[in-house]
Amino acid sequence: MTTLTNLLDLDPAQLVAYCGELGEKPFRAKQLQRWIHQFGASDFDAMTDLAKSLRDKLKTRATITAPAIISDHTSADGTRKWLVDVGNGNAVETVYIPEENRGTLCISTQAGCAVNCRFCSTGKQGFNRNLSVGEIIGQLWMAEFELRRTKGIAPGPKGERQITNVVMMGMGEPLLNYEPTVTALKLMLDDNAYGLSRRRVTLSTSGVVPMIDKLSQDCPVALAVSLHASNDALRDGLVPLNRKYPLRELMDACRRYLAFAPRDFITFEYCMLDGVNDGDQHARELIALVQGSNPVPCKFNLIPFNPFPESGLTRSQNPRIKAFAQILMDAGIVTTIRKTRGDDIDAACGQLAGEVKDRTRVQERMKKMTEYQEKFGKDFGRIVEISS
Ligand code: SF4
Repeated sequence: MTTLTNLLDLDPAQLVAYCGELGEKPFRAKQLQRWIHQFGASDFDAMTDLAKSLRDKLKTRATITAPAIISDHTSADGTRKWLVDVGNGNAVETVYIPEENRGTLCISTQAGCAVNCRFCSTGKQGFNRNLSVGEIIGQLWMAEFELRRTKGIAPGPKGERQITNVVMMGMGEPLLNYEPTVTALKLMLDDNAYGLSRRRVTLSTSGVVPMIDKLSQDCPVALAVSLHASNDALRDGLVPLNRKYPLRELMDACRRYLAFAPRDFITFEYCMLDGVNDGDQHARELIALVQGSNPVPCKFNLIPFNPFPESGLTRSQNPRIKAFAQILMDAGIVTTIRKTRGDDIDAACGQLAGEVKDRTRVQERMKKMTEYQEKFGKDFGRIVEISS
């Protein structure tokens, strides 16, 4: 049996090569790419400006398949969270956060994560596997066209784009799944696909120093660094990767990255942990770290911790978070406190498919999905919600 090529796995150059293998000219690849990424098409027969002979070839050799949706929840504040199946009992979450002038999609790059940050529920699951290009870009493909379908907005470049910003801040460390992540980034930026500006695509890393340098050469997008501590001793305990790439090396990598970055600052994310990293002295250490003799232009984003029982950690009190922010701001550092979104659907930061108890529910839902599929057969189609 021929294995079908999933066209969501191919970047623009690979699609040209693929069309070449089919005996087609390069401009066919552009047409195909527009159908896939601008019109959300998955049916080759709908691609009416492609010759019938090409459509027939594609039908026997290719597919356009994004990860299947297991569940789809919308929060009271409009945040929408999808749980998507990435095979072998693994699932990841994709979260859409609507705001007045933009729509941000938070996507995952790995099922589980090997970095095992102490405050992160995803890390507690351990590492399952890297996502493919199709599974990463497929989250954007699925979300953009699901949102349009829900709102009755036509697909195509003329329809109002729903996702204006992408953040790679979901499950996993993107720089430890480097090639698929960069291929997906290139598709996000490509004018024949999503055409997002580099400034509107942010990759968040826990600090994989050599890959930060590589990203600056291959596909520099906005960079966020999960910092979470003001000195090495503290960070070693919170972000174990720090033992390999300590703060001095990380700050050097940030400075080097800025020479190629689309923005003139790095965003430092800082999860506020009660009594752990939220003291005045920690704020002062941070100021010394980024404003010392060799400064790093940056902004801070303080994230109120979303507690989960296995962490043994609690969220800093709001007045403490505000006082901490004030110390940074008094030193001239732009500082924001992340608004918690989607709390009622467990879509808040650090809860992405990661809550250990939710992991069990993932398995339950997937079991139910299989039962439903068996009951209703292949006509069951796209699963939007499975009651649980
Ligand atoms: S914070 Fe990011 S890098 Fe750390 S364990 Fe969680 S997903 Fe992995």
